[in-house]
Amino acid sequence: MSGNSVRLEAIAKIVNQDPVEKAIPFQEVPTSDLFGINVFSLAVMKERLPKHVYQSLKQTIESGATLDLTTADAVAAEMKSWALERGATHYAHVFYPLTGLTAEKHDSFFSPDGEGGTIAEFEGKTLIQGEPDGSSFPSGGIRQTFEARGYTIWDVTSPAYILENPNGTTLCIPTAFVSWTGEALDKKTPVLRSMQALNKQAQRVLKFFGNDGEFVSATAGPEQEYFLIDKSFYYARPDLLNAGRTLFGAPPPRGQEFDDHYFGAIHERVLACMFESERECFKLGIPVKTRHNEVAPSQYEIAPVFEYANVATDHQQLIMVTLRRVAEKYGMACLLHEKPFAGVNGSGKHLNYSMGSSVAGNLFDPGETPSDNVQFLVFCAAMLRSVYKWAPLLRAVVASASNDHRLGANEAPPAILSVFLGDELTEIVESIAKGKAVKAKKDLLNLGVDVLPPIPKHSGDRNRTSPMAFTGNRFEFRAVGSSQSIAGPLVALNAVMADSLDYCASFLEKSDTSSPEALGAAVGELVKEVYAECHTVIFNGDGYSAEWHEEAASRGLPNLKTSAEALPVLIDDSVVELLSRYHILSPRETHSRYEVYAEQYIKTINVESNLMLEIARTLVFPAAVRFQTELAESVSALKAVGIDGDTETLQAITTLVRDLQGAVSALAKAKTDAPEEPKAACDWCRDAILPAMEKLRAAVDSLEGIVADDFWPLPTYQEMLFMK
Ligand code: ADP
Ligand code: MG
Repeated sequence: MSGNSVRLEAIAKIVNQDPVEKAIPFQEVPTSDLFGINVFSLAVMKERLPKHVYQSLKQTIESGATLDLTTADAVAAEMKSWALERGATHYAHVFYPLTGLTAEKHDSFFSPDGEGGTIAEFEGKTLIQGEPDGSSFPSGGIRQTFEARGYTIWDVTSPAYILENPNGTTLCIPTAFVSWTGEALDKKTPVLRSMQALNKQAQRVLKFFGNDGEFVSATAGPEQEYFLIDKSFYYARPDLLNAGRTLFGAPPPRGQEFDDHYFGAIHERVLACMFESERECFKLGIPVKTRHNEVAPSQYEIAPVFEYANVATDHQQLIMVTLRRVAEKYGMACLLHEKPFAGVNGSGKHLNYSMGSSVAGNLFDPGETPSDNVQFLVFCAAMLRSVYKWAPLLRAVVASASNDHRLGANEAPPAILSVFLGDELTEIVESIAKGKAVKAKKDLLNLGVDVLPPIPKHSGDRNRTSPMAFTGNRFEFRAVGSSQSIAGPLVALNAVMADSLDYCASFLEKSDTSSPEALGAAVGELVKEVYAECHTVIFNGDGYSAEWHEEAASRGLPNLKTSAEALPVLIDDSVVELLSRYHILSPRETHSRYEVYAEQYIKTINVESNLMLEIARTLVFPAAVRFQTELAESVSALKAVGIDGDTETLQAITTLVRDLQGAVSALAKAKTDAPEEPKAACDWCRDAILPAMEKLRAAVDSLEGIVADDFWPLPTYQEMLFMK
C-alpha cells in the first residue's frame, strides 16, 4: 500500500467508524463504589491483619523505619490471599527507572508442589525484596553489566494494588530500585530521601510554633494535559509512532485561534474514554477529580486531588499508563508528548506543591490564627529564597528535548524562574521588608503582632504565565512537562525547601523567640533579610511578554533556554553539594543522573533526525517527484498541441524538491559530524542538528501546501486534530 492510500484509508475508517459502545455497565457498579477496590490499603490491612502486625506496619510507614521479617511474612501471607481472591496469578515488583517510565517484572505465585500440582507461594522476603535483571536500564555508569544486580525494595508507604486484564490479574508492589551497593537507580529512591530531608528541616521551624512532632510530608497535585487523536492517523504517522510528536506538518487553515475548544463540550467518544479511564483510576485508589477540554483542539486535562508526594508520583505514573491503555480501547492514541503538533499549544503537567502534617496543617495556607500566619510567612520566605537561589536547578529538572519545544513558547512559562505571589501577598512581604505597617482590611487575618501586617485568606489570584505561582494555599510549578515523571521536580522542590528551611530555622535559633511577640519580630527580621536578598525573583506580570525577558535579564535572573544549557546545572558543584548534604543523592548518583539525562536528550534528537531523514526520503520525496512528473507531463502534452501549461507550479515544485534534497544532505552531514563527549554532543544537537531539522521541516511543510492532496502520504494537522 502506498503512503497516500494508508492516509486515505485512515480517513475512511474514521468516517465509517462504529458509534461508541457502552463499554462498562456503569449503572450496575456505580463509580463511587469502585474507589480503591483494587488497593491493599491501610483500611484493608487494618481489617485483615492481626492487630500487632498492623500496628507494626503502620509504625514503619509513619517513621520510615525498616520492616522486620516476621511482620513482612505476616503481611505477605495476607496480601497473597487478598490477591488470590481477586484472581491474581502473578505478582510484580513495579519500579521507576531513570527513563521516566514504569517498569515491572512479573512472577507467578505458583510453584510445582512436587506431586504434579502447584502451590501458591509468597513469602515476606519476596514481598520486601526482588532481584530483576535490570541490567538494560540506564544507570549512568553506576552499574556495569558484570555487576548487573539491581534490587527492588518494597516501598511500604505506597500501597500495593491489583492490575486487571481481561485474561487475569496481577498484584503490583511499588518498589525502589537500587544497585547492590545501595545506590539509587530509579526515580523513587530520591523522592523518599528528599521527603525525609524536608521533614527534618520543617520540624526545626515548626518547633517554634509548637507544631512539630508529626511527619511533615510534601503534597503534590499534578494536572496532566494530553492529546487524543484517532489511532488510524497515529499509525499512519511514523513520527508520532516513534517519536511521539509530528516532525512535519503544515499549520492547518484553522487552528486554535477561536479559543473554542477550551472548556468546551467534550466529544462523545472522548468523554466515553475519559469515563473509563477515571473508573480505572478509581479502582486503583487514584482520586481523579477534574477533567476538561484544553486550549488546543483535541487537547484535554485530567487532575487528581493532591496526595502525599510519593504516592502522588506513583499514581501519576499509573494515570499516564491508564490514559494510554484506555484510549486504545476507544480507537484513539493518547499523546503525552510536550509538543505533538507545532503551532498549537503543547502539554504540561502543572505540579501543585505544598507540605504539611495533621498537627501543623497545610504550611502554605495562611491559616486561622495569628500564630499560623507568622508560621506561614516563614514557609513563604523559604519558597522565595528557594526559587531565587536554586532557579537553575529547578530549571534543570524540567529539561528535556521534548519540553524545550514548550518552555518559553508563549503557552508555557519561560525558562526564567520567577515567583508569582499575587498583589496582596507581595504588598505584605514588601511592607514587612520596609518596616512599614499595612492597613488592616476587613477580611484580612490579623497576625496579632504589631510588626507583622494581616494576611489575606485564600488570595484567589491567578497568573497563568508564571512558572511558580502562589495560588492561595500551595505553589504551582508550571514548567513541568506532560510526559515527565514528577519525581525529579519533587526531589528538587523538597531539596531546595529543605535548604531554605534549614536557613530559616538557623536564623530563628539565633534570635530571641522567648515570647510570641519576640517570635513575630524575629520572623519579621527573617522576612526582611530574605526579601533583601531575593526580591528580584518576585514577578507578578505577564511572563510571556518580551519586556519580561529584558527585565529579567536586567535583574540578573538566569534564563537557561534549552536543555543543553540547563542539564549541566545538575553537576554544578553547588547542586552536587546540596543533594549530598541532605543525603538525597550522593555525588556519584547525581553525576550518573546527569549522564543519563544528557544521553536521553542526545538519543531523542538522534531518533527524531533519523525519522525525518527516512520520512523525507521515502515518503515525501517520492510523492513530490510523482506530482512533479505529472505536472511535467501535462506541460509537455499541452505544448504538443500549442498551449502553454502551468510552468509556474512546476518551477515551484522543482525548487522545493531541490530544497528538500539540500536539507536532507545537510541534516545527514550534521549527524555524521556529531562529537562523542556528552556536553559537546548536547551542544551539537542544539546548534547543528536541530537547526538542520528545522530547515528540512520547512521544505517538507512547503511541499505539503503544493503537492496534490491525493499524493500526500502523511495525515495532515487538519485531519489529526479535527477528525474524531
Ligand atoms: P487550576 O486549574 O485552577 O490550577 P485544578 O483544580 O485543575 O486547578 O488543580 C488544582 C490541583 O491542586 C489539584 O490537583 C489539587 O488537589 C491541588 N492542590 C490543592 N491543594 C493542594 C496542596 N495543599 N498541596 C498540593 N496540591 C494541592
Ligand atoms: Mg493549574
